[in-house]
This record gives sequence, C-alpha cells and structure tokens, in this order.
Amino acid sequence: MNSLDRCARCGSDDIETKPVERMVRGGSDAAVVSVEASVCRNCGERFFPVDAIREMESTRKRLERGDVAGFRSLGRLFRGVDTAVRNG
Ligand SMILES: [Zn+2]
Repeated sequence: MNSLDRCARCGSDDIETKPVERMVRGGSDAAVVSVEASVCRNCGERFFPVDAIREMESTRKRLERGDVAGFRSLGRLFRGVDTAVRNG
C-alpha cells in the first residue's frame, strides 16, 4: 500500500497506518468494511489508499446489485425518529 508520510490537512508527520471500519451504502443496504487507512495522530484525519477505496467501491456496487454472498449479517439497520421534520 502507499502510505502517507505527511498529513494533507494539518501537515503533521505523525501518521499511523491501521485498520479502520467504514460504513458503505449501496441502494437501501449498507455494509461495514474494514480497510487499512493512514490516520493522522494530530488531527484525526483519515486517508485511504487506492486499495481501500477500490474495496469500498466494489462493496457499494455489490450492495446495489443485491449481491451479498459471503457477507455476514450484523443485524438490522434502522433510521431513528427524525426530529428535524415538523408537521404543518
Ligand atoms: Zn493531520
């Protein structure tokens, strides 16, 4: 993977490469993927290498097609009560 040696946001060189979990949405479904990212210890910004972006993109396309073979169900996904919507 191509690791980063300087944060593009704050300029810090305190970059750590570690797996992070991302929620990927496709159609009305979503999946959590664990991908490797460069995380800035100073500002918390995350930078994803090409491989990680490709993985998230292919997961999104599979969700859109409903192709979830091999995916593990984590439970149900809900949307909470939307307090921003007012009646009348
Ligand atoms: Zn930073």
